[in-house]
Amino acid sequence: MGALDGKTALVTGASRGIGRGIALRLARDGALVAVHYGGNQAAAEETVALIGKEGGRAFPIAAELGVPGDVETLYGRFDQALAERGERPGLDILVNNAGISVPADIHKVTPEIFDRLVAVNAKAPLFLIQQGLSRMPDGGRIVNVSSIVTRIAFPEGVGYAMTKGGIEALTLALAKELGPRGITVNAVTPGFVATEMNAHRRTSPEATAALEAYSMFNRLGEAADVADIVAFLASDDSRWITGQRIDASGGSRL
Ligand code: NAP
Repeated sequence: MGALDGKTALVTGASRGIGRGIALRLARDGALVAVHYGGNQAAAEETVALIGKEGGRAFPIAAELGVPGDVETLYGRFDQALAERGERPGLDILVNNAGISVPADIHKVTPEIFDRLVAVNAKAPLFLIQQGLSRMPDGGRIVNVSSIVTRIAFPEGVGYAMTKGGIEALTLALAKELGPRGITVNAVTPGFVATEMNAHRRTSPEATAALEAYSMFNRLGEAADVADIVAFLASDDSRWITGQRIDASGGSRL
């Protein structure tokens, strides 16, 4: 028996990076996983194939976030995919992982950059939850992927940091709202994880070493480091935790 047998999970941004790691882990725990992606179909299909190779169950869902109608498109395809597969409708676990980062400090950030960051990192998760709730039974799980930038100053991505502050405020507010339904809402805050998102910061051994030095374990995080924490928050074992910001950064800059 897996901890998530019989559950259906939606992981946004699961084609690559941390989201792929989360999708793999939730499927390993027994969940049927909707592998959401924006434009990278080949990568999403690879995630689905990797899950299948391990004996898990998953299907891809395309929907660009941060554009008008994004959430409706995503859930339309999600519902349809479940129906086509003869699966029970509904969503037990929602992981808001998809996100973008734009390196722009206070001097470089523009209204356009800020609007895009908000649309993808904050607005889409808000409405994914809003429209996910009618599909989610009591006892469901919502996990939002934030970042250590809400604890450690990150002026080089000020707009990005603001969106992550927003998702943590959302987490707290909804934990109160949804408590009576037994739905937990938590956020995880990764530190530097070796994904494409920060590849531009790892252009030399010295630059990489500087990022590694953030963690008390002196290395970059792996997607699995974060995924294992998300899997706990998605499981019944975490039923007494809600409205929390769980550090997933290897103790960065303690
Ligand atoms: P990543 O490797 O760049 O992957 C991003 C994922 O999100 C991809 O699956 C991508 O889909 C999807 N995505 C991005 N923009 C999208 C959009 N507009 N519409 C739909 N899908 C979109 O990123 P990551 O490093 O794994 O980051 C995942 C989450 O962790 C983000 O919320 C990020 O802020 C957070 N985080 C990351 C780090 C880090 O060091 N990497 C640290 C702290 C927090 P496609 O493949 O189709 O483009």
